[in-house]
Amino acid sequence: MKQLEKIYEGKAKQIYRTEDENLIIMHYKDDATAYNGIKKAQIKEKGTLNNKISTIIYKYLIAKGIPTHYIETINDCDQLCKKVTIFPLEVICRNYVAGSMSKRLGIPEGTKPENVIFEICYKNDTLGDPLINDHHAVALKAATYDELKEIYKLTSEINEYLKELFSKVGIILVDFKIEFGKTFDGKIVLADEISPDTARLWDEKTHDKLDKDRFRRDLGHVTEAYQEIYKRLGSL
Ligand code: UDP
Repeated sequence: MKQLEKIYEGKAKQIYRTEDENLIIMHYKDDATAYNGIKKAQIKEKGTLNNKISTIIYKYLIAKGIPTHYIETINDCDQLCKKVTIFPLEVICRNYVAGSMSKRLGIPEGTKPENVIFEICYKNDTLGDPLINDHHAVALKAATYDELKEIYKLTSEINEYLKELFSKVGIILVDFKIEFGKTFDGKIVLADEISPDTARLWDEKTHDKLDKDRFRRDLGHVTEAYQEIYKRLGSL
């Protein structure tokens, strides 16, 4: 599939048009940002590692029946995907308390609540991706109540499958962020990446952080952590 002009550039990826109007090429960059773009750096090999990690995860979810935008991985840094209209929502799912939830509610990081916690944030850089609820999302025309119902159902299923996948390789899925889009025929599908950039992944035994918190919190060995996730998932 021939790559045509760039149609979008985000913080960690670029999107290119292709000869087929319903397909795009998603290119993974080494660029990393944190704190709404205030902290910036390049992380060696991150683009290719996230492409490979996300590929394994998407193939796993597709085999379980989750509808996604993914078609195929075409090289080290690029995937061919269905073109979708992204819901301007970040859907966060938490199995353990960490990050912003820990700070906002004063609950120590690593606490395991009895329930799974779902949050939505409005994707808007100017506003700093604020946490919203379903009623705000509907008022913002970001999604309808029916679409939100479907999005939460899929998120819950994805969480169960991902917890299972990561536990096979000795990793705790602390939390993750996903995005959804709508294909040209109106189907809601999982879109964007799932990688150590978008999920908190802790080693089961040592609780070592094997994700983007190593960059956010200046813990060092960022590439090595992403390599470790790829190595473990690749061993399955
Ligand atoms: N996350 C993300 N993109 C964002 C914000 C959060 O991928 O713009 C992911 C983050 O990596 C973590 C989860 O969503 O796995 C929950 O993040 P949190 O709300 O705790 O925010 P943070 O502490 O990262 O600011």
